[in-house]
Amino acid sequence: MTVVGVRGIGMTSARTRERLVARLKEQGIRNPAVLNLIRSAPRHLFVDEALASRAYEDTALPIGLGQTISQPFIVARMTEALLEDTVPEKVLEVGTGCGYQTLILAKLVPQVFTVERIGALQQRARKTLNTLKVRNVRFKHADANWGWPQHAPYDGILVTAAPEAVPPALMQQLAVGGRMVIPVGATHGQDLLLVTRTDKQHYAHKLLDRVSFVPLLEGTE
Ligand code: SAH
Repeated sequence: MTVVGVRGIGMTSARTRERLVARLKEQGIRNPAVLNLIRSAPRHLFVDEALASRAYEDTALPIGLGQTISQPFIVARMTEALLEDTVPEKVLEVGTGCGYQTLILAKLVPQVFTVERIGALQQRARKTLNTLKVRNVRFKHADANWGWPQHAPYDGILVTAAPEAVPPALMQQLAVGGRMVIPVGATHGQDLLLVTRTDKQHYAHKLLDRVSFVPLLEGTE
């Protein structure tokens, strides 16, 4: 995208960004840091140029390869839930996609580890975040059903694709006292769960919302 293009969208989007933030507030998003980030993050840089004019609508959009950029409300809701009591030091993100949720996390927590199964998407996300000078994210091209054991345990785990049940590896890699936000269920609608590890053996589950995510698949491509 040319510099002129970026500026052009930036100018026309100031009002639509405010409208988006107002809408998220109406829908119950309260965390001021999260709202400020939704306002300032250049979401148009994460979608195709042809869709850039729709980047500040509260909707999921296609990013190619059958995947989507999450709806801003969902990104805000999940981030707020992950950060509710304390700011986690280390967060594992499952499903980098275009890297928009990754950017929001990277601005709020010290260290982000993000895993994506589609190599081409991961490369694009890496480039975009590099352009934005985001330095506290580490990327891995892998099937995140297995988490990222080398850096475990994580104080927070945020999952942006839906498995039918919480993958055991992710449960194991959650620190005691850590929180995981994860959509769980069948293809056409899932429960967004907050899973808290209360001690070594025990986990508490809380239902946050009904949501619709792409499925968590197996293997890499
Ligand atoms: N976080 C993104 C949304 C990504 S959509 C955003 O900010 O908008 C979900 C992503 O999860 C897709 O890119 C998909 O390829 C990826 N995914 C699905 N199954 C996966 C798996 N087993 N391991 C890693 N990534 C996976």
